[in-house]
Amino acid sequence: MSDPRISKVVVLRDVCIGAAPCTVVAPDAFELDSEGKAVVKDSWKNTAGKTVLEAAQSCPVNAIEVYDEAGTKIYPK
Ligand code: SF4
Repeated sequence: MSDPRISKVVVLRDVCIGAAPCTVVAPDAFELDSEGKAVVKDSWKNTAGKTVLEAAQSCPVNAIEVYDEAGTKIYPK
């Protein structure tokens, strides 16, 4: 898989159920806060784009939105 250039990552907190695979796939990009919901860490840009995308794809409820450099949402489609 090519490495997508990602400009923005958003966690939809109303949708997140705290299932946490995102924090396992990309621990430098996501962590659970005190409410048990995922937040995007400031260090997310240190994570390869494809890993951020894999983390979004690992979310069972599609609570992670990923945008490319043009501002187009590349996941979920
Ligand atoms: S995988 Fe999805 S539901 Fe689970 S913590 Fe991450 S964003 Fe929330």
